[in-house]
Amino acid sequence: MCGIVGYIGPRQAGDLLVSGLRRLEYRGYDSAGVAIANGELEVRKKEGKVDELAALLENRPVEGTVGMGHTRWATHGAPTDTNAHPHTATHGRFAIIHNGIIENYVSIKRRLLEKGYTFDSETDTEVLAHFIEDVQEETGLSFPESVRQALTQVEGAYGIVALSMDNPDELVVARNGSPLLLGVGEGEHFVGSDASPFIEFTRHVVYLNDGEMAVVRRDGYDVSEINGAPVSKEVHELEWDLEEIEKGGFEHFMLKEIMEQPEALENAMRGRVRADEGTIKLGGLEYVTKELESADRIVICACGTSWHAGLVGEYLIERFARIPVEVEYASEFRYRDPVLTEGDVVLVISQSGETADTLAAVRQAKQAGVLALGVVNAVGSTIARETDAGVYLHAGPEIGVASTKAFTAQVTVLAQIALLLAQKRGTISDESLRQHLDALAAIPEQIRTVLETDEQIQAIAREMRLAQNALYLGRGLNFPVALEGALKLKEISYIHAEGYPAAEMKHGPIALIDRFMPVVFVATRDATYEKVVSNIEEVVARQGSVIAITDAGNRDLDELAEHVIEVPKTADAFEPLLTVVPLQLLSYHVAVMRGCNVDQPRNLAKSVTVE
Ligand code: GLU
Repeated sequence: MCGIVGYIGPRQAGDLLVSGLRRLEYRGYDSAGVAIANGELEVRKKEGKVDELAALLENRPVEGTVGMGHTRWATHGAPTDTNAHPHTATHGRFAIIHNGIIENYVSIKRRLLEKGYTFDSETDTEVLAHFIEDVQEETGLSFPESVRQALTQVEGAYGIVALSMDNPDELVVARNGSPLLLGVGEGEHFVGSDASPFIEFTRHVVYLNDGEMAVVRRDGYDVSEINGAPVSKEVHELEWDLEEIEKGGFEHFMLKEIMEQPEALENAMRGRVRADEGTIKLGGLEYVTKELESADRIVICACGTSWHAGLVGEYLIERFARIPVEVEYASEFRYRDPVLTEGDVVLVISQSGETADTLAAVRQAKQAGVLALGVVNAVGSTIARETDAGVYLHAGPEIGVASTKAFTAQVTVLAQIALLLAQKRGTISDESLRQHLDALAAIPEQIRTVLETDEQIQAIAREMRLAQNALYLGRGLNFPVALEGALKLKEISYIHAEGYPAAEMKHGPIALIDRFMPVVFVATRDATYEKVVSNIEEVVARQGSVIAITDAGNRDLDELAEHVIEVPKTADAFEPLLTVVPLQLLSYHVAVMRGCNVDQPRNLAKSVTVE
C-alpha cells in the first residue's frame, strides 16, 4: 500500500522528497507528510494531495539533507492531518513512517497506555513509534537496536523508515511484507517503496527481503536480519523505466492487481482469521455483533462488481449463519420505498466507499432506524463514516477501473462475517468452523497456483478475442462468478457477454448458441456439478465452444470442452475466490489483444459518485 521515500546525502531533502512522493502518487493515497532533520526534527503533514503538502513546505520551508516522506493509504483511523505520517515519539526526537498494518497494535497499545503513554492519532503506526521509544527507555540500546528489538515483537506487515535525532546521520529501514528498496548513489542513499522517486539519481538498487532491516548512511549501509544476523546484499542495476516501475513491471494496473490478490487477501484476513484458535475476530463489528447475530434479515445493497460479491455473501451467510439475506441493486433499493422493519440489517458493499447509489441506501437504512453496516476498501470514505459499523477490506488501493482484487477481498470479508455469525449463532460445529477457517487461510496460496495458468489463458484469449458475444454460466455459488466474469469481459473488451445461471440457459439464451459463441462454464465438483455437466452437453450438442473452469484433476470435461482450466480444490463455499481469477485473466488478455485501454475503459469511472 502507498508510498515511502527516504534520502540521506548532500542534497536538500525537501524538494527531493516532495517530487519523490509525486512519483508515488499512482499507488493511491489520502494524505502525505515529510520529516527532515534540521537540528531538530521538522515534520510537515497534511490530509489530501502531495500538492497541499508542497504548499505547506513552501510556506514553512525546511532545510536539511536527511529526511523521509510518506503517502498514507489509511488503514487505522480516517485520513486526517493528525493520522498522517510521519509519527513522532520521545518528544519529537524521532519520527517514523510506515506502510502496512501492525496486527498486534491493540495489545501493545494497551501495555503502553498502562505505562502512561498518550496517543495523538488513531494509527497503529504511532503505537509502533511509542513502542520503540519504550524499548529504548527500558533497555538503553542505540536507536537502530531499539527499532530491531521492538520489531521482533511486532506482528503484521510493514515497510518502515525511522529517523532519530540521536544520530541524524542515519536512516533505519525495515521491511516485512511491504515493498522497500535502497537506491545506492555516490555519497548519498535513497529509500523507496519502488525506485520511481530516485530513478534520475541512481539505477543501482538493493532489494530488501521480508524480515530484513538496514541502517543507511551517506557513505554506505548495513543490512541485517531483524533477528540479528548480518546479510550481504547484491547491488542490482535497474532496467525498468518510470512507467514500468509504477506498474511493478506489469503492463497494466489491472494485471498488477490481479497478480497481487494473494497478498491482498492475506491482508483482508490478517489478524482476523485465526485458524489455529478456530476463531474469527472482526474488530469493526465488535460493538454490533449482538444486534447483527439476532437479525431477522440482512439486506445487502451494492452496485456492479460489489453487487456480485453481495450475491456470494448471500449464499455464504444463509448457508453458514442461517439468516435470510436479500441482495439489492442499491440504485433500485433507494427508489423502491423498501419495507425495512426492526430486526433488519442493511449491509452495503463499496470499494471506494463513495458510490452515490450505495450511499443513498445507507441513508435510507438510517432513516428507517435499522443498523447500517459497510464493507468498504477506502478507510474514512463517506460510506465508512456514515455506516454504524463495518469491516474494511485492507486490499490496498485499486487503480484499474475494472475491479479485481477488491472483489475477491469483498468475498473474503463476507465469508468471515458469515463464519463469525455462524459461530455466534451456533449454526456451525467447531469442527466445521475450523475446517473452513483452514480452507480460507489457504486461499491466497491457492490463488498463486491459479495465477500460474496465465499462459494457458492467453492461448484461450487468442481465440476468444474474435468473438462478438459470450455466455458465462454457473450454478450455486458459481452463478455470481459467471455474472462477474461476463461483466469483466464487457467492461474492458467491449465484447457483449451475459452471465446466467446454467440451468436457465435452456429458457432463453440457448437460442444464441452457435459455433461462434464461446460459452464459459464454471463447473467445479460441488452439489450441482452433475447438472452443470448436462448443461455443457446441451451446449456442445449445438456446436457451442466450451471453456470450462473446474477442479484440479477433474478429467470428466476433457472430451467435452475445448479448453479446461483447473483450479485447486477448496471448500465448496470458497470456490468463487478461485474460479473468478481465470475469468479476470481471460478478460484482461482478450482486452489487451483487442487493443483496448484496459485500465481506463471507455465511459467508465473508478468511483461512481453520480446516481
Ligand atoms: N496502518 C497505517 C495507517 O493507517 C499505515 C497505512 C499505510 O500503509 O499507509 O496509518
